[in-house]
Amino acid sequence: MTEHETENLPTQATDSPSPNNALIQHDLGPLMDITRATASGQDAAHLLQTIVQTALTTLPSAEKGVIHLLHQDGRLEPRYCSRPWPSEQQPSGIPRGIGVAGRSLAENAVIYVADTARSLDYARLSSHQDVRSLVVAPLCFGERQMGTLSLSSAAPDAFAPSDVNIVTILAAQAAIALGQTMLLERARAERRKSDAIIDQMSEGLLILSPEDQVRRANRALGSLITGQPNAEIPPLSTIQRWVNEQLLDSHAKIMGGYCVASTIDCGPITFLSVTPSTGAEGGERVFVVHDVTSDRESTERRALFVSQISHELRTPLQHILSSVGLITEIDDLSTEERRRYLKHIEDETYHMNKLVDDLVALSRIEVGHFEVSCQPLRVDLLVSRVLGRMEPRARVKNLALAQDDDMPAVWAFSDPLRLEQVLLNILSNACKYTPARSIVHISLREDGDWVHLAVRDAGPGIPADQLRSIFDPFVRLPQNSHVPGMGLGLYISQQIMQMLGGRIDVSSSPQGGSTFGIVIPRTAEHAPDCPQE
Ligand code: ADP
Repeated sequence: MTEHETENLPTQATDSPSPNNALIQHDLGPLMDITRATASGQDAAHLLQTIVQTALTTLPSAEKGVIHLLHQDGRLEPRYCSRPWPSEQQPSGIPRGIGVAGRSLAENAVIYVADTARSLDYARLSSHQDVRSLVVAPLCFGERQMGTLSLSSAAPDAFAPSDVNIVTILAAQAAIALGQTMLLERARAERRKSDAIIDQMSEGLLILSPEDQVRRANRALGSLITGQPNAEIPPLSTIQRWVNEQLLDSHAKIMGGYCVASTIDCGPITFLSVTPSTGAEGGERVFVVHDVTSDRESTERRALFVSQISHELRTPLQHILSSVGLITEIDDLSTEERRRYLKHIEDETYHMNKLVDDLVALSRIEVGHFEVSCQPLRVDLLVSRVLGRMEPRARVKNLALAQDDDMPAVWAFSDPLRLEQVLLNILSNACKYTPARSIVHISLREDGDWVHLAVRDAGPGIPADQLRSIFDPFVRLPQNSHVPGMGLGLYISQQIMQMLGGRIDVSSSPQGGSTFGIVIPRTAEHAPDCPQE
């Protein structure tokens, strides 16, 4: 190699001294610096700095060190320079094969430029004033080309052949360190990504070692264990305790698809669906855990509902059958007895009909198919109509259905059929729960934009702490259990009143007697969700 020529050097130079000898003659410390930096988990950015600083310390004749890394677009991007980039010379990507660095990478060879002033290659590329001689070595990790390490001096012929060999070895070591660090960083980034996904899962995730030691748990599992939504993931020791006490103890049930567990502080019982999968790496077992408590509750509720309905339908049917049997089988039945049995059949049929109506309404409400259609209507006339329908039932119990003498003509904006349904329900409750020979009173008044209807009875009253719950579906007060009913009427009435833009409420005194109030909008303005006819 003559003084001012550009020379490609094989990555294993054959000149004497050999690269290894050169470094041994020098000092092995620099290699150790790079290895130490990798072992200490330095990130890639810091490692680049360590590599360049190590190279500069090892080769005193080098004044500047630069590392270019290969970008996805195939260009070499300057990623670290031991000196600040001159402002007029902002770093930019070097195409592969162009310039000394581009050529070093393309040819996978160490290139020494003894004097840039005489190198066409270099002059064509740039006008770096501070670079007269330079050595560029490719950074290759196995088959993978990562970039180049360039060391330069402002003086020509600054590097001896042994210096070039040292750069070759340093570049090889740096490439290994950089490759490993990048792999590690990619693995860490992947781990962070999968951690984020696992923590976002709505299902609990638990990984156990073959010895049943907790290896990993996610946030959702933490919430299941603590019983607190959005809780931080508890310490592994806490999770381990829960696993030992709750999960592994009920292993037989896990295999059956779910286990019954309480929270770590012996909180409420939850039903967990646990799907174990084996065969993970290292014999680990992965459990996906769901809280299926509400599913089980709703299954139980549905089963209870079906059995309640069956019971409610069977009872009146049996009564009807026995009345029919008596009428058909007894020849000398008196007219009075026959009338009584027929009345019985009528009552039971009425009850069954109401039950079926309520069930249909309930299912329509629950699937959102319950429709209302509003129009201006005379509430006083509607009240008279409903009282007329209730009259026969009231008479059987000797109940008086009273209304204000001078009930005014009152207009409201509502759905006549639905409003009648609500009023019938309230009145029929009043008749059901009021003892015989008492009075059920209905009153009507206007108040600004609203019409108020009130049904007052002389029944047993409703305890204050149960006034709200009677509007929940299937709630019946134990003291009224002897009276037929399913606990649906008030729930349906409340839903209807909401759809009509009004409301229903109740007050009751401890001495007995309840008053159910219905509030109806007078104009369309207050029935916003209600389509007009
Ligand atoms: P049902 O009457 O069919 O049981 P409801 O939803 O209409 O269903 O009523 C729910 C519960 O509220 C009833 O079971 C009863 O215990 C109580 N209740 C309703 N109306 C009255 C009333 N006027 N007086 C006393 N209790 C009542």
